[in-house]
Amino acid sequence: MQKQLPLRPAGPETVEALLRWYEAERRDLPWRYGPRKKADPYRVWLSEIMLQQTTVKAVIPYFQKFVARWPTVSALASARLEEVLQYWAGLGYYSRARNLKACADAVVRDFGGVFPRSETDLLRLPGIGPYTAAAISAIAFGEKATPVDGNVERVVSRLFAVQQPLPAAKSEIRNLAATLTPARRAGDFAQAMMDLGAEICTPKNPSCLMCPVQQDCAASARGLAEVLPLKAQKLARPSRYGIAFLVQREDGAILLRQRPEAGLLGGMLEVPSTHWGDAPPQKKEALRAAPVTTSWVTVAGTVVHVFTHFRLELVVYRAIVPVDASFTLWAKQEHCRWVHRRDLHAQALPSVMKKIIAHGLSTD
Ligand code: SF4
Repeated sequence: MQKQLPLRPAGPETVEALLRWYEAERRDLPWRYGPRKKADPYRVWLSEIMLQQTTVKAVIPYFQKFVARWPTVSALASARLEEVLQYWAGLGYYSRARNLKACADAVVRDFGGVFPRSETDLLRLPGIGPYTAAAISAIAFGEKATPVDGNVERVVSRLFAVQQPLPAAKSEIRNLAATLTPARRAGDFAQAMMDLGAEICTPKNPSCLMCPVQQDCAASARGLAEVLPLKAQKLARPSRYGIAFLVQREDGAILLRQRPEAGLLGGMLEVPSTHWGDAPPQKKEALRAAPVTTSWVTVAGTVVHVFTHFRLELVVYRAIVPVDASFTLWAKQEHCRWVHRRDLHAQALPSVMKKIIAHGLSTD
């Protein structure tokens, strides 16, 4: 039987072991540079904003599209917001795209097109919170900063066997992570922690036997690896309901409306709908929110979409209207436009709206 080594509290030797592992096993990602190299701040920033609440696999094609279209922060600053939103469509959490453009503008306007290196200056930029500021500062500039995302949180809570549940444990975990961050190679260390969390110290079934820091891991030594981090019980996600109005012109164009700049899916295009309330709306009341007065057909089934804070369930009403002046005029007045079906892919349409259109047209 293999003899278990005594636990060595996580410290500088843990960091060394992790950096060695990172040099050999790190993930090859399009925004990364090799170990001991500082990355391009623009690429680090862009990737970190895209990776918020989104998987690496989903981000890669978007990242490649963005850097091909806008290779520098100055190029992005000179882009039209509408085009940025179009490129972002499908990635979700659209306020990130709006902040992306605002941040590029601010870097050009206030910093001469060069990202600042300190966390304090980075935090002043739109859309950059403590995690992203620390990631850019460490990875692009080698500053001693400690980005703590969900992966790092999990690794640290296990290395030190933190018993307090999340989210209350966040500040303890941040402090413990900071005690490990080395003065040199802080960027490599940050990325090594992210990779360890993504590849080895996974939420379920962590591969402790393959882990480069198992000797230093208190959770593994105490048989708590699968249990930590503890989480406070979550409240159930509430449901909201509404009716979406899919209006199709006889020539195949679909009526879309631009959402208000502020709030959920701000500035994106939508299929007009009723307010999304706590209960399904009554038909009579719902029709007051309809974009046109016409006869509607209810499409069988519902569209369900899960946002971070609520679950949305929509019934779709569909109508086909003639190509005449009154409908066209109405569309102009209410931030609406007609978009032909063949051009839908080029629009800034969030996933939920694509689902509504697909569901509404499924009877064709
Ligand atoms: Fe995570 Fe296991 Fe490694 Fe500890 S030994 S850091 S629990 S993978």
